[in-house]
Amino acid sequence: MLFLPEDVFDLCLDRAKKLMGSEKYNSWLSNACFRSFNDGVFTIGLDSEIRVNFVTHNYKTNLEELLREVSGDPEVSVVFTHLPETLSLGKVSNSSRHELFSNFLKSGYVFDRFIQGPNNRLAFATAYSVACEMGHSSSNPLFIYGGVGLGKTHLIQAIAHHVKTHHPNKTFCYISSEEFLTMFLRAMIPNKNNFMEMENFKDKFRNSHYLIMDDVQFLSNKETTQDLFFHLFNDLYLRGRQIIVTSDRPPHELEPLAERLISRFQSGMVVDIKPPMLETRLAILNQKLRDENIHLDNDVVFYLAETVKSNVRQLEGAVNLLAANIRIQNFVPTIDNVRSIITEYLGSSSRRLNPSSITSIVGEYFGINPNALKGKKRKREILIPRQVSMFLLRDLTNLSLEEIGDFFDRDHSTVLNAIKRVNCMISEDSFFKRKILDIRESLLG
Ligand code: ADP
Ligand code: MG
Repeated sequence: MLFLPEDVFDLCLDRAKKLMGSEKYNSWLSNACFRSFNDGVFTIGLDSEIRVNFVTHNYKTNLEELLREVSGDPEVSVVFTHLPETLSLGKVSNSSRHELFSNFLKSGYVFDRFIQGPNNRLAFATAYSVACEMGHSSSNPLFIYGGVGLGKTHLIQAIAHHVKTHHPNKTFCYISSEEFLTMFLRAMIPNKNNFMEMENFKDKFRNSHYLIMDDVQFLSNKETTQDLFFHLFNDLYLRGRQIIVTSDRPPHELEPLAERLISRFQSGMVVDIKPPMLETRLAILNQKLRDENIHLDNDVVFYLAETVKSNVRQLEGAVNLLAANIRIQNFVPTIDNVRSIITEYLGSSSRRLNPSSITSIVGEYFGINPNALKGKKRKREILIPRQVSMFLLRDLTNLSLEEIGDFFDRDHSTVLNAIKRVNCMISEDSFFKRKILDIRESLLG
């Protein structure tokens, strides 16, 4: 399966032809021609103004539905434009060829909008340097890790944006490991073109100068996919292509990812992003307030930066909430207003996402007294929920292995083992996996 925008559009045309019947199709859409894909919008050329009007009124909604289905993105839309005859004859500019379609880049995720601080300076500098010049052995592969909402995706998309604007002759492929998995599985679906599909799939990656993979931790447990990734990785690496991956944890915690992949990751540059400190939070906050066109007194801004501290996504969430309040009520909030809005906002997530609440919800699910989870008993009925609690604490909070260990009065290696154990059980037992997903959902509200 090919996922370039023009290919997605071609696939949609095929389906549209079947749905409309060839007569209607030939009258209206047979000359439709992919022009560009930007910010989720397909621009499609048609060879007359009349066709543009007719197709827009009659087929736009259906085509959008098809595009959403085929691309897997529920938000893509389509516009039609009149394309001069000469252009419509040939394939239109291939400017978007250098971008793998499976995940769209967010326009704001650029270097200029990434606020630097001591928590992310090294990650930023390295990301920026590989974006400017690829394949230096000291930072290839580049492995960036850190907790949720700390800017990993922003930073690696910034690399892609930079390459796109400054090195148009270089190709890149930006994909999350989950999408990689989905594409891989689709390419494996048996059909008479199976070999071709797989080769196409591999070619997409082989031809990239930059392979940028987000959230590589999701490859854990997927052995065949890991094998393929490993071979693609080596192939690109040996040809001096740049590989960049992110993960929510450092390489050595990625088990059960294959040892050889882990050591490949460790062989390049490994950098982390930590939660931002006050000054950096203030700077991020000010940028966000400017974006939202909100003016707040300095003491209010300071209060926000001081109070909302676990990650940047949470900080952005707080500003969005304030912005919504201001818009609805049409007033400039005082520090007291803000305090009550934010207390409520943080309360609703911290009530759920702290060690006591996580253990008590896990206890409830497994029918175990939460206090027993902190105790010493190693019976299976207690051991497993205890390990699940550790796993979820690592997954849903920014607590370190040590901090989680402290809560259970154990050391960090016990926590690490628990996380590995739960990962294994998730991959082996779908019933168990469902249960963990349920608990996770109820914690996330
Ligand atoms: P992650 O991938 O680490 O979970 P994201 O990259 O999705 O985190 O970041 C979450 C949000 O916070 C995004 O909207 C991102 O733009 C913003 N953000 C994170 N770090 C910074 C930063 N240093 N400067 C500006 N915005 C940031
Ligand atoms: Mg991310």
